[in-house]
Amino acid sequence: MRLLYDKIRQDGKVYPGNILKVDGFLNHQMDIALIEEIGKEFYQRFSTCEVTKILTIEASGIGIACFVAQRFRVPLLFAKKAKTKNLGNDVYVSRVASFTHGNVNDVVVSKDYLSADDKVLIIDDFLANGQALRGLIDIVRQAGATVVGAGTVIEKGFQGGGDALRKEGVRVESLAIIHSMTDDGTIVFRNE
Ligand code: 5GP
Repeated sequence: MRLLYDKIRQDGKVYPGNILKVDGFLNHQMDIALIEEIGKEFYQRFSTCEVTKILTIEASGIGIACFVAQRFRVPLLFAKKAKTKNLGNDVYVSRVASFTHGNVNDVVVSKDYLSADDKVLIIDDFLANGQALRGLIDIVRQAGATVVGAGTVIEKGFQGGGDALRKEGVRVESLAIIHSMTDDGTIVFRNE
């Protein structure tokens, strides 16, 4: 997605530890015109999949996923990071290691909102090692529902999470796949 490549090059900042900051347009301040285009692009890529629900994870996935859900005219469901150890039986739970925060979270979704009939498109802002997506896929499968695919805005291809999932048969579509990035700010995209 050319618009996104340009935006990443213009406003993205590379930080030590393979972190790309895109706070100016994606996950702190949000460029709504761009996010609207992102929603449209994911709709085009998955429009034939009979999607019944969009699933993401709090917090930064939510704003983006809203625009995708609006296109599909289906509900947006977001997994919550559990704050209590006492989760009860009415939730699906999966354990997710956070790449950026270096901790582990239980993420939960109420059983009320995901069922075996659902065809779920998972959306997130970033794909790095793939832990967040794996947690969400696990939750969909616990519900007996179908994962039609996963859409991420920026995939750091050099971390391998996306390709590992593709090898396992998950359809993963990322709008910008970064082949390499260096601390001086040089970013090379995979298919450019
Ligand atoms: P993964 O689970 O694929 O390793 O990492 C994905 C999650 O970590 C995303 O939900 C995103 O919030 C965060 N993340 C991973 N890499 C980056 C990065 O380079 N920049 C930012 N802003 N977030 C990242």
